[in-house]
Amino acid sequence: MKPLTPMLKQYMSIKAEYPDAVLFYRMGDFYEMFFDDAKLASGILGIALTSRGTYEGEKIPMCGVPHHAARTYITRLVDGGVKVAVCDQVEDPRTARGIVRREVVRLVTAGSVLDEGAVDGRRSLFIASLCGLNGGLGLAHGDLSTGEFRVTELDDPSSAVDELGRIDPAEVLVAEPVEGTPLAGLSRHRLEVVGAGPFEASRAERLLKEQLEVGSLEGFGLSEMPLGMRAAGALIHYLTETQKSRPGHIRDVVTYRAGDFMVLDEATCSHLELFKTMRRRTVKGSLLHVLDRTSTAMGARLLKRWLSYPLIDLDGIRKRHGAVGCLKDDPFLRADLVAELAPMNDLERLNGRIVLGRASARDLAALKHSIQRLPAIRSMLNQSPSIMLSDIAEQMDTLEDVARRIDEAIAEDPPMSIKDGGVVREGFNETLDGLIALSRDGKGWITRFAAAEQERTGIASLKVGFNRVFGYYMEVSKANLHLVPSHYIRKQTLANGERYITEELKEMEDRVLGAEEKRVALEASLFEEIRSRIAAQSERIKHSAMMVAEVDAIAGLAETAEQCDYVRPEVNDETEIHITDGRHPVIERSLTDEAFVPNDIHLDSERQQVMIITGPNMAGKSTILRQAALTVLMAQAGSFVPASSAVIGVVDRIFSRVGAGDDLSGGLSTFMVEMNETANIMRHASPKSLVILDEIGRGTSTYDGLSIAWAVAEALHDRDGKGVRTLFATHYHELVDLAAGKVRVKNFNIAVREWKKRIIFLRKLVPGGTSRSYGIQVARIAGVPEDVLARATEILHNLERSGREYSGAGGGFRVNTGRGHTQLSLFGSADHRLREWIGRLEIDALTPLDALVELGRLKEHVNSDEI
Ligand code: ADP
Ligand code: MG
Repeated sequence: MKPLTPMLKQYMSIKAEYPDAVLFYRMGDFYEMFFDDAKLASGILGIALTSRGTYEGEKIPMCGVPHHAARTYITRLVDGGVKVAVCDQVEDPRTARGIVRREVVRLVTAGSVLDEGAVDGRRSLFIASLCGLNGGLGLAHGDLSTGEFRVTELDDPSSAVDELGRIDPAEVLVAEPVEGTPLAGLSRHRLEVVGAGPFEASRAERLLKEQLEVGSLEGFGLSEMPLGMRAAGALIHYLTETQKSRPGHIRDVVTYRAGDFMVLDEATCSHLELFKTMRRRTVKGSLLHVLDRTSTAMGARLLKRWLSYPLIDLDGIRKRHGAVGCLKDDPFLRADLVAELAPMNDLERLNGRIVLGRASARDLAALKHSIQRLPAIRSMLNQSPSIMLSDIAEQMDTLEDVARRIDEAIAEDPPMSIKDGGVVREGFNETLDGLIALSRDGKGWITRFAAAEQERTGIASLKVGFNRVFGYYMEVSKANLHLVPSHYIRKQTLANGERYITEELKEMEDRVLGAEEKRVALEASLFEEIRSRIAAQSERIKHSAMMVAEVDAIAGLAETAEQCDYVRPEVNDETEIHITDGRHPVIERSLTDEAFVPNDIHLDSERQQVMIITGPNMAGKSTILRQAALTVLMAQAGSFVPASSAVIGVVDRIFSRVGAGDDLSGGLSTFMVEMNETANIMRHASPKSLVILDEIGRGTSTYDGLSIAWAVAEALHDRDGKGVRTLFATHYHELVDLAAGKVRVKNFNIAVREWKKRIIFLRKLVPGGTSRSYGIQVARIAGVPEDVLARATEILHNLERSGREYSGAGGGFRVNTGRGHTQLSLFGSADHRLREWIGRLEIDALTPLDALVELGRLKEHVNSDEI
């Protein structure tokens, strides 16, 4: 067998370290992929698969992408579900002996993409790490682009899945399942199974101490979260591995407990369409889309965080409301703020790039221009009557020294690449200024030098020349040799003269010749020095960025409140929820030809704790439920709400469930899932919770479903003797009878009117139950043909006449399903026997009196129902 070429040997040894990544192997101006990598990548990228050389007698598959376009290809591969190891040449091919040394310089994974353009600026890009042991779990998540890093612990796997649901990470690290990491329920996420080593307690602790540069983790609250610490350590390890350098901007770890905020599980987030719609999974149509009027990416990310983690402490909630109110009421201030905010760059991500050594000169210039706006923002908020805004003004570090430092060092409008020169401002560094002057005017210097020497020596014919062997030299003709000063060094004798050099000339020569190259090198090293000096201020920059994000989120909410006509809710410690003229924040914006009809909602713990809402399909039941939950969530996130007034007894947890049959995403939600979720509510709901049940029990046969719905409503009412605030929408109008036996259950329905066989939705929530479903009328709206509707009406009448009797709360149902194969099949068997009876009567043989008696018997039998 032929020995491997040196290049192939190098490739193999690097590839062996990254077996599960596609290796981008730099060759000249291309990144090449080989073997299976090439097959995989050419498929995903749709590029040609070629071959190069042979290995063990077979052609080696190969494909490649130009290095300047690598970014887009890498992004596409990562989106396509693979990791990419970028392997660069790490020495200058011109000076390399033998094969150029190559190394993997970074590993790009779904959760650690860093390139601008590949990442949506207005969304965080989280990567999470999960560590489980004996039921408990540690969960860490971070955003490499900003340095945000949080750690928590959870009691059980399902809470961990819920928490991951709201973090929505791009990648989740789990240890090789030696410790029984609960993999079930995580399938929605992109899992990265890594070695268990970094999850190990003492190693994780050491890694974290190194990362945070502290002697103890006490101050971070990590000592009370041993599992969280292990997850965090593993995550830091992974980030360091992928970046090939320590993520220096992660300097702070925030620990939290799920119960510090309103708890929102995964099902609730998705049912309430907080961040994505259920059907299309787009942001448009979600709550976030309606509320987000922020001006900066930082503000947008923070707003999303606020909505994922609504507050439960009244003080915090009221501060946000105070700030939103203040900016809502002062449109001029708001406009002034927005004028400063809108041109701001993403300080958090700029900061991240600076610390990771990825920032360009343009990034530094962008940082400068952005932080130069901080003093104006600060002074606008200085006198604010809002506690939150004046606190921000007080805390905001305006970073003037950082701006000045960048301004002194970096050119006003630096070029894209450092190779072009011109990154560092003239006047910043003398040596550099000299080089710049030289490279700009090297020839001029020579001319001036020649003139000066002519004058000094009195040799008018002295001239400066250049050749490849000696470089610059001075040539003196034979006639003038006696005038040559003693420090001239003779280099070459010609027929009619001599050539000399001086130390000054040689020095200059070095400088002139290397000026351009040296300039670029010096600029690069100066730039790196400046960048690392700015990086040393990263904590301050991060903090100011957070202040800006808060101002922006508040200003955005104020703008929304103003434009959408929201009011300030009162959030208190009681258990009442009272929303007057409430609206659905998303649906009200999407209606075009009808106006949204507002509704009142009242829940408390004494009189009206469970609202049963009945009404035909399309009446607006789901809408009312969701608008109530969204209003509460918005209020606790700090937003104003779509209502004319709202009083909200703080909610510790929202449970929102939608019956399998009503789940728009279809298929996904089975009856089993629905019942699991219901069980989960039963376990976790408290008197401070809010439960929204939309058509639950639908995923099974009618009577099972009704029975389950009934039992669940009952259980929520009775729970711990205190009950849970619940809104229950159902098309089972039989449920209205629950109110008879349960004091705090109240019936409501959404009013409809019938007019000329048509149904008119009044959209008004009114007290009382309904007894009809209006399904046929709704079908008519949907355009079901009239003959089908007529037949449906006929069947309905038959069913109503004979099929179904309901004997009140607790008694259950007696239903005649009337199986048969003819049109008459819808008649029950009782009717059938009646028909037989009537059919046997011989009218001719009956006297009028007999006929009357017979009729009496028939009627009696019909009434007693026992033929
Ligand atoms: P249900 O759950 O009773 O079947 P939905 O809540 O899904 O009905 O409402 C159906 C449609 O009716 C909504 O998509 C919306 O267009 C409209 N709608 C609901 N409530 C209102 C309202 N209060 N005002 C105006 N239109 C409404
Ligand atoms: Mg509905």
